Amino acid sequence: MRRFFIDRQAIAGSRAFLAGTDAHHLLRVLRLKTGDEVELFDGSGMVYQAKIEGGDLHRVELAVLAASDTPPDRLAIHLGQAMLKGKKMDLVVQKCTELGVRAIHPLLSTHTKNPAPGPEKLARWQRIIQESCKQCNQPWPPTCHPARSFAEVLAAGEGCDLRLICWEQPEAPPLRSVVNSLAIPRSIMVLIGPEGGFSTEEIAQARAAGFLAVGLGRRILRAETAAIAVIALLQYIFNDLD
Ligand code: SAM
Repeated sequence: MRRFFIDRQAIAGSRAFLAGTDAHHLLRVLRLKTGDEVELFDGSGMVYQAKIEGGDLHRVELAVLAASDTPPDRLAIHLGQAMLKGKKMDLVVQKCTELGVRAIHPLLSTHTKNPAPGPEKLARWQRIIQESCKQCNQPWPPTCHPARSFAEVLAAGEGCDLRLICWEQPEAPPLRSVVNSLAIPRSIMVLIGPEGGFSTEEIAQARAAGFLAVGLGRRILRAETAAIAVIALLQYIFNDLD
C-alpha cells in the first residue's frame, strides 16, 4: 500500500487532495490511477484509507474510505546524538525513525568535528524521516530538533523519566545492570557521542544532571551503531516491541 503524508487542511470530511510533488509522484512515478487506493498520514497518528478519484499532475482528488487513529508508542525515546561526519547522521535519522524514536536532538560536544546542520541538511533529514515513516508504516514522525549545545540537550532531557549517557570506557556499568531494577519509564533521553567520544568533563556534567552512564559491551561501536543498538535494547528491555 502506497503511503503519503498529507496536511490536515487537505482533508475535509470524506474528501482529500494531494498537490505538488506528491500529485506528480503518484501519477507519473508510481503510475497510480483512478480507483487505486493509498494510505494518507497526517503526522499526528491519523491514518486514512483513500481512493484516487481523478486529477492531474498538479492536484489529485481522493475519496476518504476510512480513518483510524494510531496512538503514539508507549515509550518515548529521545536520542541525543552528537553531530557525526558525512552521511552518518542521515543513517541515524533513518534507522531511529524506523525504530520509533520520539525525537532526535543533534548536539555539539567537545569532540564534535562537524558544524551544526544548516537549513538544507535539516530539510533533508525531514525528507528522510517522512520516507522512513512511509516505508515502515509509522504514522508518528519523530521531531528532529536543530543542533544545540551539550548543556542544552542535557536540559532538554530534564522531563524524561530516565536519562542515560552511553560511555565506552570500562568503568561504565553495563546497560542491563543499570536499568534492570528500574520501573518501566514513560520517557528516556539517551545520549551518544561523536566519533571522538564524550569528554570526561561531559560525562561528569551529564552525571551531575541526573544522567546514568551505561556501557554497551566491551567493543567500541561506531556512534551510528551504538545509537541503533541502544534504542533497540531499551525497547526490548522495557517491552516496547510487543
Ligand atoms: N572515542 C572513543 C574511542 O575511540 O575509544 C570512541 C567513541 S564511539 C566511536 C562514539 C560513541 O558511541 C561514544 O561516545 C558512545 O556514546 C558510543 N559507544 C560506542 N561504543 C560504546 C560502548 N561499548 N558502550 C557505550 N557506548 C558506546
